[in-house]
Amino acid sequence: MTRRKLVAGNWKMNGSRAALAELDGIAAAAAAAPNVDVMVAVPFTLIAPAADRAPTLSIGAEDVHEADSGAHTGCVSAAMVKEAGARFTLVGHSERRMDQGETSHDAWAKAAAARRQGLHVISCCGETEAERDADRAERVVQAQIEKSVPDNADGSWFTLAYEPRWAIGTGRTPTLEQIAAIHAIARAKLRTLIGDAADGVRILYGGSVTGDNAATILACDNVDGALVGGASLTAAKFVPIITAAAAL
Ligand code: PEP
Repeated sequence: MTRRKLVAGNWKMNGSRAALAELDGIAAAAAAAPNVDVMVAVPFTLIAPAADRAPTLSIGAEDVHEADSGAHTGCVSAAMVKEAGARFTLVGHSERRMDQGETSHDAWAKAAAARRQGLHVISCCGETEAERDADRAERVVQAQIEKSVPDNADGSWFTLAYEPRWAIGTGRTPTLEQIAAIHAIARAKLRTLIGDAADGVRILYGGSVTGDNAATILACDNVDGALVGGASLTAAKFVPIITAAAAL
């Protein structure tokens, strides 16, 4: 099955209204790459102005609460980010797992909440360095997928992102063989959970993707795109990744 490539940015806790000017170049690159889906997740406060400034881009949230509404001070629901202009959300990012103690079950509940609002979901998984060193990367990722992927997931609204924690923001990446191996076991695990729908679910690689390494990483089997942190903050760094995806 052919899956459209997806290049998604994650601005994390970076950016400002002034930084939204970067979206102009990103939107132009996306328009020039009609075979690639381009998404940018921004901080909550920037969703509405980003969506206004770049209506042709898919702007998203970096997280949503698992409840639809209620007494959850400081949290933001899927309906709220949707009203602000978000078309998708990340869930289960490793920084939220580390900083906020989120679990794979939380990622599952957040994905379900996002789905109730019609948002696309990019659900993240990935091992720590200690887990990789202990030869447990495959088992850890399988367990995370098992606990976080909703039964009704399919490629129309759900994307998985494999992001080894030790590769995020470090400039280090797994070997291409290691990336392909995890993506293969992730696809197989999805198949046991959702059957044939697994073939339509895109699996992104994330962790220190740049314009220099994007082409080789994106060419790996079962790598359907990239989730990009640092290199998504400027058009100068993000556009080469979009261009690399478009060339495949
Ligand atoms: C991320 O934030 O999901 C990420 C992969 O970050 P970076 O590209 O900076 O490693």
